Amino acid sequence: MQAPEFVLSATWLLPIAPNNIALADHGIAVQDGRIIALAATSELLTRYPDCAHTHLQDQILMPGLVNAHGHAAMSLMRGIGTGLALQEWLRDAIWPFEAKHMNAQAVALGTELTIAEMLLSGTTTFADMYFFPETVARVAHQTGIRCQIAAPVIDFATLWSRDADDALHKTMALYDEYRHHPLVNIAFGPHSPYSVKQKHLSQIAMYADELDAAVQIHLHETRHEVAQAHEQLGHGYVHLLRDTGLLGPRLQAVHMTQLTEAEIDMVAAAQTSVVHCPTSNMQLASGTCPVAELQAQDITVALGTDGAASNNTQDLFAELRLAALLAKHSRADPTQGKANDALKMATLNGAKALGLDHDVGSLEVGKSADLIAINTQQANMAPVHDPFASLVHNSSGSAVSTVMVAGTTLVSEGQLTKINIDELCRKAQRWQLQLN
Ligand SMILES: [Zn+2]
Repeated sequence: MQAPEFVLSATWLLPIAPNNIALADHGIAVQDGRIIALAATSELLTRYPDCAHTHLQDQILMPGLVNAHGHAAMSLMRGIGTGLALQEWLRDAIWPFEAKHMNAQAVALGTELTIAEMLLSGTTTFADMYFFPETVARVAHQTGIRCQIAAPVIDFATLWSRDADDALHKTMALYDEYRHHPLVNIAFGPHSPYSVKQKHLSQIAMYADELDAAVQIHLHETRHEVAQAHEQLGHGYVHLLRDTGLLGPRLQAVHMTQLTEAEIDMVAAAQTSVVHCPTSNMQLASGTCPVAELQAQDITVALGTDGAASNNTQDLFAELRLAALLAKHSRADPTQGKANDALKMATLNGAKALGLDHDVGSLEVGKSADLIAINTQQANMAPVHDPFASLVHNSSGSAVSTVMVAGTTLVSEGQLTKINIDELCRKAQRWQLQLN
């Protein structure tokens, strides 16, 4: 067997699979971007004595985080419409702002800004849904991050498409273009069941099956949305998605704050994944995703920041801390929201939801070297009794020192290797100054 390109070891290694294991002084050997060995550091050095070796002292090595839902370009809209409920926020603040100021160029800028923020805070895979997905895909490709780009499908004319048919046509063309890309995955992004007609939802289910593509949708986000569904259909939108054939293992249902027991059973039977976005749900006062009830039915629950306009950061460490706390608070039970569960939600479950768990989500032999290291020699981290609790409850994205995607270093000693962050921030500032 060929020797590895490098061995990377650390004081702690959290593989995430198997669950809840913290390995002291372990590392991995990487060849062609893949993990070919995982063992104690001393064993790796005996096995590969001539290989380049980096030891990350007092650091925690773990799989890169998976941000399973967001709208990257919305980093340009932080603070717009804050204080409004979802319907008014979209209608009176976000949509008018987008119509006036967002174009492909702005989307490229906002997306790169978000990718910079995500990489610096330990996210190695992100899921996106926004206009001009071809621009998002191009920027993602240039930065070297892994992603799922869900092209948005909406019935009415948008910045990107004339109608749903036009959006579907463009999605298929984009899917073809990136079919063999190692890091960029194209998915269908019907915005929501209230903005896409039933016939288009059925069409998407059919196309996604044919292409073996993923589908992401905002579903049961607010009480208002679910009440509207009952008024128009006599049941919630989960039923509608089942009837259209969309409720299945390819579907990633984002938010899911209002669910009956029967709906949870349907989601479980269909093996649909759920993406929990606690900050966005709290900021828009949308409701609470019943994570414990979903997990009790073996439903895969992933974690997402949602767009920066309703968060306002893209730091998934902040999100997983909130998810852990909310799990305890919402059930009035401190045994809920375990730190290892929160970390799994932000890694392996995210990879499962996006259909990428064969490749990422855990540090295992055969998987891609998508990983991060967190420096614990900081005032808010030292000393470490329990690396899981430290990562969830007293860390933050700013403690991330190293980020790799497929064995390529994208963050080294806390600095981006491919993005000039100073220039990017200046560009964002110039963009804001020319708004009228
Ligand atoms: Zn969203």
